[in-house]
Amino acid sequence: MNPLYSLVVPIYNEEAVLPVLLRRLDALLPKLDGPAEVIFVDDGSTDASPIVLEARARADARYRFLKLSRNFGQQVAMTSGMARARGQAVVLMDADLQDPPEVVLDMIAKWREGFEVVYAQRLSREGESRFKLMTSNLFYRVMGRLSDVDVPPNVGDFRLVDRKALDSFLAMPERDRFVRGMFSWVGYRQAVVQFHRPARAAGETKYSLTKMVRLAASGLVSFSDAPLRAALWAGLAVCAVALGYALFVVALWLAGANLARGWSSIIVVMTFLGGANMLMTGVLGVYIGRIHTEVKRRPLYFVDRAVGFEAASVIEAAREEAA
Ligand code: UDP
Ligand code: MG
Repeated sequence: MNPLYSLVVPIYNEEAVLPVLLRRLDALLPKLDGPAEVIFVDDGSTDASPIVLEARARADARYRFLKLSRNFGQQVAMTSGMARARGQAVVLMDADLQDPPEVVLDMIAKWREGFEVVYAQRLSREGESRFKLMTSNLFYRVMGRLSDVDVPPNVGDFRLVDRKALDSFLAMPERDRFVRGMFSWVGYRQAVVQFHRPARAAGETKYSLTKMVRLAASGLVSFSDAPLRAALWAGLAVCAVALGYALFVVALWLAGANLARGWSSIIVVMTFLGGANMLMTGVLGVYIGRIHTEVKRRPLYFVDRAVGFEAASVIEAAREEAA
């Protein structure tokens, strides 16, 4: 029998937190209103995590263990776990208990109300550096302005998704996976539950500065081509300034100001060429942006519900029979 719920937990060198995590999950599972599976995805850990988790998966039928061939990063680890999930509702959560398992009960309540994507929003964050909070805030502000999907602020990957939204997500073939953005992009009915985010239960963050920057860049680049188009606007602006400046220099010359010979023409030509260069780069950017969206090969849309098509095929069949 297929489980009703799947919990997907990416693991990267989390041996310090595993004992607590397993205890909390053991306490959560009986509280759910249906059978559940927990899928641990080992993202190339070099500590004892895979040994502990594999042992658990062998001993307890509710737990599963998936081991990736190396460290692919959290986004890919989650994707691989979701591809194996068989539940009707799938929950993504971090291993370090910063996503408290009990919140899953609230998410399930929302799911029962008919929402297909229920994401968890942090009301507060403990034990995280000011630098992390500031950069994360800045990122969501920029993202909100530049991209055409709404990535809600203060929301990580902690969320519940319905089978329908999950299958849509899995149908998106792009290599560069910014999971939270993609789940905003798929649409359907989305709801939010709020929670206070505690500090990591044990161990240290597995997100180095480079990994954070990479995640932010991949989010921006896969959901916005604004950076590409920026050159176009900058080029236009420089051209306009150059033109204004040329008029000014001509006016000076007409007024008989004492200018060094040749200076005005050189300066005008230089600024204008700079602008024209940038403008052309921007035009290239626009086309590369198109190529970029094409290359991603995303499906054009997802169907939420289809009603009445059965009737059409019945008429079709009747016609064929009559013929
Ligand atoms: N993680 C992963 N692969 C990585 C980095 C992190 O699977 O390359 C997992 C990690 O084990 C944890 C989750 O992603 O379950 C979030 O990582 P972490 O708590 O270190 O990030 P932070 O909360 O500090 O942003
Ligand atoms: Mg964490």
